Amino acid sequence: MITDTHAHLNDEMFDDDLKDVINRAKVQGVSRIIVIGMDNETSKKAIEIASAHEGLYATAGIHPGYVDDDQDMGGIKDLIKTHQVVGVGETGLDLHWRKDNLDLQKEVFLAQIKLSIEFDLPLVIHTRSSFEEAYQMLLPFKGKVKGVFHCFSSTLEDAKRAVNLGFYIGIDGPVTYKKSDVIRSIVEDIPMDRLLVETDSPYLAPQAYRGKRNEPSYLVDVIDVIAKIKGMTTEAIARITTQNADTLFRLGGKDR
Ligand SMILES: [Zn+2]
Repeated sequence: MITDTHAHLNDEMFDDDLKDVINRAKVQGVSRIIVIGMDNETSKKAIEIASAHEGLYATAGIHPGYVDDDQDMGGIKDLIKTHQVVGVGETGLDLHWRKDNLDLQKEVFLAQIKLSIEFDLPLVIHTRSSFEEAYQMLLPFKGKVKGVFHCFSSTLEDAKRAVNLGFYIGIDGPVTYKKSDVIRSIVEDIPMDRLLVETDSPYLAPQAYRGKRNEPSYLVDVIDVIAKIKGMTTEAIARITTQNADTLFRLGGKDR
């Protein structure tokens, strides 16, 4: 069994053929998928999709690209209490797209760090050109926060700091790209019990599908590359990353 820990199946690109996408994933063994919210509306839609499909879960949160001045954090808090929600996010900081609203991004990220502690749910963290800033915000909560740095895009050194902080590293399609030596060195060095696999569908399709809409069934390509780097079987990578997803997100736990 393979677990895709990060897919935006709530994106309108999946509106027409969601059932087929989920079935193709199941044929490839990707039988559990976490659907990721990016604002109030997409979080709500993630929960709706998760309630309608066996093996699908949701997160609720505000992506740093979607922050605004009168953020409905109360609405997010209500969504977080929903049975289908297994994590808070996608949240974090993005200094690639926007640098001018960093204070607001930090405020909304901090509110979600606190929600994750209050509800004992992992954070799904997005960083882009902002690992250091996000790390510094999480550091005072060391021991209380947990989660994943999704689609990890910083250095090996930063990946080690994330792991020391108690976080997991999310590996996606870019590990299959020619230029991604840094990501492959992260896969090589970071212990297997700290890696998660994810697609970030519909974005970041693996090399064989590059430029096309990504979908959870393509996750097998990511697993293949990790298996080669680690010198393990694809079955072992699938099993261990699924166990890691269970541990972090408590999928299928007693309270679900
Ligand atoms: Zn995402």
